[in-house]
Amino acid sequence: MKNPFHLLVYCAALLAQSSGAQTYLQGATIIDGTGAAGIENGVVIVENGKLSCVGSSQQCPVPADAEVIELQGSFITPGLVDAHVHFGQTGWLDGRPDGISAPAVYPYAATAKAAKDNPGRWQQSYLCSGITAVFDVGGPFWTTQLRDEAENDPGSAHVRAAGPLISWAGREQLQLDDEVFSFLPMGSVEESVEGVAKLKQQGAQAVKVWYLAPSADQREVMDQRMLAIGEAAKQAGLPLLVHATSLREAKVALRAGAHMLVHSVSDQPVDQEFINLLLANNTVYAPTLVVGSGWVRALASVVLQAAPPVDDPNGCVDQNTIDKIAQPELLHEYLPAALNNAWAYRRLENEGRELVLMEQNLMAVFAAGGLIATATDAGNPMTLHGPSIYTEMEAMQRAGLSADDIIVMTTRNGAQAMLDDDRFGTLQAGKAADLVVLKQDPREDISAFRSLSHVMRAGILHNQSELAYRRVD
Ligand SMILES: [Zn+2]
Repeated sequence: MKNPFHLLVYCAALLAQSSGAQTYLQGATIIDGTGAAGIENGVVIVENGKLSCVGSSQQCPVPADAEVIELQGSFITPGLVDAHVHFGQTGWLDGRPDGISAPAVYPYAATAKAAKDNPGRWQQSYLCSGITAVFDVGGPFWTTQLRDEAENDPGSAHVRAAGPLISWAGREQLQLDDEVFSFLPMGSVEESVEGVAKLKQQGAQAVKVWYLAPSADQREVMDQRMLAIGEAAKQAGLPLLVHATSLREAKVALRAGAHMLVHSVSDQPVDQEFINLLLANNTVYAPTLVVGSGWVRALASVVLQAAPPVDDPNGCVDQNTIDKIAQPELLHEYLPAALNNAWAYRRLENEGRELVLMEQNLMAVFAAGGLIATATDAGNPMTLHGPSIYTEMEAMQRAGLSADDIIVMTTRNGAQAMLDDDRFGTLQAGKAADLVVLKQDPREDISAFRSLSHVMRAGILHNQSELAYRRVD
């Protein structure tokens, strides 16, 4: 609880809990996140931070002394879940010195410390955007503490965090010291398995492997390590998350028992063998369609020395981040030589091509009945904590998914990705009172999530504007 906003929310929560008050939301159309038809003119009753009744006014009569809130003409869905974020990254290039290292402008040690000192900064961005749960799938060890902290703080989204990721391909620039580091080595089967033990011991809530495609002569030995990590994670009772964007490595990850593939397969079309493995494991497929274009726009903005547009309809991105994005020219002199104007124009021109393959693979997984969860990779350059969820959902819609299906993928399926679907992700009695109120119908067009008017987390109802960092006209 490091900022005044959190203190305010905390006090409101104590008040609400101590009074045992019930809140009665009536009149909105309720979309419960299970895929069931919406309930017109529905009712949600909230008590002690949980849902006690969701249904029609006949099913959920108004209790005596309840605070009644009229929401006629609005739409209620569960709070959104972003199944792939990084608290250790900022949404700009200063958080990724392996992309551009500019120590005189943005010393990485200071950036890393600022992230550690104030995770509440992103927490406010999440709630402000309607996100009430996030899965941090890789970062410094301190991120593994966030889960417990967030549970008791109605000003925070629920968190599950993997902590440092295991990889054969490290990034020296990100490896600061024993305190702030992001990678565990994968130099042998023994070392790989030790990594899992270390994660378990430090309280990580998942095991994440960054499984970049090894060279042909290294495949066999690396695959053995990947499989050994999968076995060790299973023994440790931790879900296995794998970054494997190439089809071959994604299949190895599935054979290792991956609970979630944290990105699309993007090097070639998925095949039947992949689909069979995915379905047999019930592995979560997290497409992250827009993070690549965020990187391109960030780097191109530095090359061209022209600030990229920020898509933040509800003012949920903090001013410090906005200010950094507005000054890409500060990084220009640190650009690697290969990144020049020709590169930038070519990349911007080609931006859609890889996306087409990811879209086709997403639709193939969907057609086969695979479990898909919405995920942004927030924290990467120009994939901003909070509002990037809208861009990602819209990209999924453009790929061919219906808004109805995307709502389920961004609520119930996200909670399944976090292994927390018994506690949140759908609007059902007994679940956490985490929900959003929209002015427009999200079943017509998924962009309606931009029309957020209220956010409730743990039974505390906020006007969206109270959660904003900035006024956006
Ligand atoms: Zn990521």
